[in-house]
Amino acid sequence: MAPIHVLRCCQRGLAWIPVIFIALVVCWSYYAYVVELCIFTIQSIGEQGKFFVYLFFFHLSFIMFVWSYWKTIFTKPSNPSKEFCLPKAEKERYEKEERPESQQDILWRAASNLPLYTRTGAGAIRYCDRCQVIKPDRCHHCSACDMCVLKMDHHCPWVNNCVGFSNYKFFILFLAYSLVYCLFIAATVLQYFIKFWTLCRRKSAENCPKNELPDTHAKFHVLFLFFVAAMFCISILSLFSYHLWLVGKNRSTIEAFRAPVFRTGSDKNGFSLGFKKNIVQVFGDQKKYWLLPVFTSQGDGLSFPARLVNTDVEQPTVTLATDISTSPLSESQNRLLNNEVDANNIGGHVENQTLKSGERDHPESETIIYFDKES
Ligand SMILES: [Zn+2]
Ligand SMILES: [Zn+2]
Repeated sequence: MAPIHVLRCCQRGLAWIPVIFIALVVCWSYYAYVVELCIFTIQSIGEQGKFFVYLFFFHLSFIMFVWSYWKTIFTKPSNPSKEFCLPKAEKERYEKEERPESQQDILWRAASNLPLYTRTGAGAIRYCDRCQVIKPDRCHHCSACDMCVLKMDHHCPWVNNCVGFSNYKFFILFLAYSLVYCLFIAATVLQYFIKFWTLCRRKSAENCPKNELPDTHAKFHVLFLFFVAAMFCISILSLFSYHLWLVGKNRSTIEAFRAPVFRTGSDKNGFSLGFKKNIVQVFGDQKKYWLLPVFTSQGDGLSFPARLVNTDVEQPTVTLATDISTSPLSESQNRLLNNEVDANNIGGHVENQTLKSGERDHPESETIIYFDKES
């Protein structure tokens, strides 16, 4: 086996370490809660009512958490369809061609029937040399997965997968249910944590009165359970609130850092259809499925309703956006429409202004992003 293949195999194996770490912590938390807390502690002091209620809600949150985590990890990222590949003859011409302008001509011709509204910063068709494919709107190349991923959000090491169009809903639910799981554990363990904590302190002071809790190894698990649940709660809460904000704005993490560039210039709100419609884009129009990790996101991931598409006369009409013209214009949209006449002359200037205002907008995220640079 060639050394490069061995290296790649090792990299693939090592990439599972964060997932295995999370899985081990979850398995231990299950044992500590069910066996050490519920069976050894709560049952031994005769609190039967609490025993059944705690076990029921614990298992409910545990199942939803594991289900959504599983779906986020094992849902394959969606890739651009065949229509976005260059025809064989065109591809050969593109590869032989050395001048960038002629290469762009080939791409413009090939893209004439594709629903594309975003461009590179220089106004060119976005093309991935690695995958040899014209990138659909919101699609980016992930260097960790080595493929182009539709509506790529970020590559998440904690799920060892790309978070994108195919699993973004699962990822949001994974964050939501892991938060519920940790909050439930922290809230129900707190009273036993305090009892065990005071028991420990009195023991060390060697004047311990008779406590109602048994002084067993359960003490160690309960104390750690509270610390771990509280720690995860704090870290997940910030990430979860950031992604809820992104869903409300219909922005991916990548787009929050670098606004998509349309023909009229870059617009960080270019895909925003209003708060309610933005949520429906990710969670679907049937509310009964919103909390279940089953795929209900709207569209095919290849094209997205954008608010300025009807001003882009050079491109084919996208049927997805039927009622966008009725939505009120946003501040940025108004600005772009006002600047439309001069956009060709001052395109770079407009783009820089929008990017600057976009940069102020996003809070820091804990996620790691891998995506290619576009010139
Ligand atoms: Zn690619
Ligand atoms: Zn990836």
